[in-house]
This record gives sequence, C-alpha cells and structure tokens, in this order.
Amino acid sequence: MKISSFHPPQRTLMGPGPSDVNPRILEAMSRPTIGHLDPEFVRMMDEMKELLQYAFQTKNKMTMPISAPGSAGMECCFVNLVEPGDKVIVCQNGVFGGRMKENVVRSGGIVIHVDDEWGQAVNPTKLEDALKANPDAKLVAFVHAETSTGVVSDAKLLVELAHRYNCLTIVDTVTSLGGIPVLVDEWGIDAIYSGSQKCLSCTPGLSPVSFNKAAVDKISQRKHPVQSWFLDLNLVMGYWGEGAKRAYHHTAPINALYALHEALVILQEEGLETAWERHQKNHQALRNGIEAMGLKFIAKENERLPQLNTVTIPEGVDDATVRNKLLQDYNLEIGAGLGALAGKAWRIGLMGHASNKTNVLLFLGALDSILTGAGANINSGVAVQAALDYYA
Ligand SMILES: *Cc1c(COP(=O)(O)O)cnc(C)c1O
Repeated sequence: MKISSFHPPQRTLMGPGPSDVNPRILEAMSRPTIGHLDPEFVRMMDEMKELLQYAFQTKNKMTMPISAPGSAGMECCFVNLVEPGDKVIVCQNGVFGGRMKENVVRSGGIVIHVDDEWGQAVNPTKLEDALKANPDAKLVAFVHAETSTGVVSDAKLLVELAHRYNCLTIVDTVTSLGGIPVLVDEWGIDAIYSGSQKCLSCTPGLSPVSFNKAAVDKISQRKHPVQSWFLDLNLVMGYWGEGAKRAYHHTAPINALYALHEALVILQEEGLETAWERHQKNHQALRNGIEAMGLKFIAKENERLPQLNTVTIPEGVDDATVRNKLLQDYNLEIGAGLGALAGKAWRIGLMGHASNKTNVLLFLGALDSILTGAGANINSGVAVQAALDYYA
C-alpha cells in the first residue's frame, strides 16, 4: 500500500489544549529553516527571551523555552531544584499536582502532601500547617490553573506563605499564562514553567520557563549533579545564555521556535491586559449560555478559570456520544473529564486564539441541538440568545 501525505481535518479546538493555532503562527513555522547557531537565529533567540519576560512579567535573566512540552518544563524545575533528601511540599487539587509528586520522588526528594478536593482551590491554611509542621522543607510546589478541574488557586498568597517559612516555590502556569494574570516578579515566584499550546495558542512542544536569582543560587550550590543531562540548566544556559558565544547543547527545534516567537509577538500586540479581559468576557458569555440551558459549573464562582470551563454532564446523557457528535458534525473538540470527573464533566476550553465570540456561539448552538436531540432535560433553544445578550 502506498501511503500519501497526511491532511488533517480543520477542527475548532475547545478542549484543554492544544487550542486553535492562529494562522499567522502556522505561516511563521513554514519559513526557511536556518542553522541553530546562525547569527540571525541567535538574534531571534534574544528577542524570544525578551518576549517571554514580557509574558511572564519578569526581569529574570534565566527565561527561555525548553525544547519539549509542558511536562518537560515541569521536570526541568524539579530535577534542577530538588536535591536528594530535600523535603518538598506539594499542594495537589487535581491531576497535575500528582505529577509534581512523581517528579519529587524521582529527583530523590521527600514529598510532604497537602491535598485538597478536586474542584477546589489549594487551601492556604493547609499549606501553612504543613510549613509549620516541616520547618526543614525546602520547596513548595503547586499548580496555578488546574486544567483537570478548571480551578485557579491564589498563587500570590501561596508564594508569600512559602517565603515566610523560607521555602522556594515552583509554580505550574501551563494553562494560566496568557489567559489570566501571571506576575512572576510581583508575586515573587522562584521557578515557573508553562506550555506553548494553551493560552499562547502556539503549536505544542515547547515549554517556557523562568528562574529568579534565589532559584539560580540554589541550583549553583547543588552538591549532586542534576540527574538529567538534557534538562540540566547549567548546560541549557550555555546555549540560551548571554552574548554570541553559544555552545552547542542540542539542535533547537528551529521552526517550532519561529512559531513561539510569532505567538508571543501576537500577545505583545494585543497586550496582556487586553488578552486577560478577552478571556474573561468570552467565559462570561459561555457561562450565560450554559446556565440558561440549566447546566452547572463544577468550580465555585470565585475560583473559576475563564479559559477552562468544567461543566457537569446532565443526568442520563452519555459523555462520549456527545463529544463524538460535536467532532463529527461540527468539527469541534471539547475535553472529557479526568480522574474523579471522568464521565461526569466536560472541559470546555476558551484558550488564546480559540477564546472568541464565534466559538462560544458555535459551541452553545451545537451542544443545545445535540442535547435536545438526545432528549436531555435542559432548557432548549435559549443558550445562544443568552450569550448574544451578554455580548450586546
Ligand atoms: C497541559 C498541562 C501540562 C502538561 O503540558 P504538556 O505540554 O502536555 O506536556 C502540565 N500542567 C498543566 C496544568 C497542564 O494543563
């Protein structure tokens, strides 16, 4: 059998990521591949650092994209900052906090658990209790925007608490960056990672990271070498560091970096504040439609992420059937519930380029007609108008 070129269908991506990619970014990706030590490429890398500093709202010199997806950004923070025997407090309120714990264990650290129910924000009182009970803890790690539940935690307060007890912080902002405020310097976050394919609306496969001076100092004082060669920041910085004399570390994913550069240029053109407002506004319109239909959100009102909406599936409705219909009839992808929420909730992303009025109306109209057709107990025919009323 002769295999021919792969032509994916054109979808609308309203799940937990990847999100719709702006056509400008895909165009940027198709520009000529040049050498990764070419002076023109090096110039682009310098601009990239500046653009990332803007996105993260930081002056940290050690700010760059890791050449691998968000999970590698996570691993990079843990393998560099955790030394064998270090106590690390991990606050878990969903799937991704669980992965943080795995990373601590594999780095030789000791996990102190602070667990909250899925669907709730990280509880600062529980964190403070753990800090008091473990005066020798070195680090606190948590997820700012839990993509598995659609919940935001108070990053500023959690970082402040960690610092009061002399701990450094590792914060997951894979889903928050570009969608809601992430203020690295103002909040004092020590190590942070994100991803390219959520609210930055870039293609998947890159993970922006940033480390402040306290984090860099802890890394430079390590007694044991970082166990991962690829993610050892001392080596990565030889490539991403200052000036013209860059050493070969790995071949950068050249065209993928063009894409991230373009995504960050787009973010800069729109402005962070405007991007945050847009995410909020489209979330509000979606919410009006969802609630008019009679469906409910999982997260409490003041803990909801505008870019990731977890909505309960109505009684008697089959999760997979609805998602398959959305995909087949509307070319529209939403996410299934994860872990404890599997079969019980849908995850509706309004991330980056996908956070727009057309998508909100398309989704509400599609869901309304599918649920009505399935005989579900909802208020039919009102969702789209409720969203339109909000926009008006
Ligand atoms: C998507 C996601 C990740 C993992 O990113 P990948 O690019 O899929 O590796 C980590 N943390 C959170 C909160 C995420 O939403």
